[in-house]
Amino acid sequence: MLATIAVFDLHIHSYYSDGEGSVEDIARKAKEKGLRIIALADHSIEHPLGLDEGKAKKRKEEIEYCQSKFDIKIFDAIECGIDADSMIVKPKHKFELVIASIHEVLPKKEYCKRIIECAKNCDFDILGHYRSSIFGTYEEGLDEMDMEVIDVLVENDIALEVNSAHRSPPIEIIEIASSKVMYSVGSDSHTLSRVGDVAWAFNTLNKKLKKWKSILNRRYDF
Ligand SMILES: [Zn+2]
Ligand SMILES: [Zn+2]
Repeated sequence: MLATIAVFDLHIHSYYSDGEGSVEDIARKAKEKGLRIIALADHSIEHPLGLDEGKAKKRKEEIEYCQSKFDIKIFDAIECGIDADSMIVKPKHKFELVIASIHEVLPKKEYCKRIIECAKNCDFDILGHYRSSIFGTYEEGLDEMDMEVIDVLVENDIALEVNSAHRSPPIEIIEIASSKVMYSVGSDSHTLSRVGDVAWAFNTLNKKLKKWKSILNRRYDF
C-alpha cells in the first residue's frame, strides 16, 4: 500500500520559485531517496519569485523530460496563497495539482474563515500546512472552526496536507479529522537535502490512524 510507506512527496519548491534545486536536481534526489511520486509545487504569482505563465511552461517541459529520464511521476503543481478575499490566483496554465495555503499571520477565526470561503469558491486539491506555527494559530486548541474546515474539505473533495516542515496540522486535528478526509503528504522542501523529508508526516499519520486515504489513492489510482 503506497499510503503506508514514504514513497511520495507532494510539496517541493524548485528554483522556479524560491527553492534551490532545478527540476533535474530534484528528480535525481527523489530517485536516490526511493521516492516514486513527487509534486513540484512552486509558489504562484502573488509571491515575488512565483511561477508566471512563462516559467510554468518551461518548468513543464523539464518535468516531462525528467519523468522519463528518472522514471518517476512528477506532478506539475502549484502552491497558491489564499488572499484577503479568500481567493487564489494562478498563472494561465493547466496544473495537475493545486495546493492552497495561508501565508499570513491571522487571528484563528479569520484564518479559518478564509479557508472555508476559498474551499467553497475556488478550485484546489490540497489545503497546505493547516494551522502552521509560523502563521500563528498552532497553539490554539480545537474549536468549531476546525470542524467547519474539516467538513468543507470533505464536501469539496480537498485533501488535508500533513507537512513535515511546518509539523502541521496539530496532532489533534488529525485525531478529529480521522479517516473522514483524504490526506496529502509534503516536505515543503526549499533545499535539495530536504527533498523527500516526509518521515514525520507518514509516521504521524500511521501512528494516529489505522487506515487513511491518500489523495493519490483517490484521484490518480496509484
Ligand atoms: Zn506554504
Ligand atoms: Zn510551500
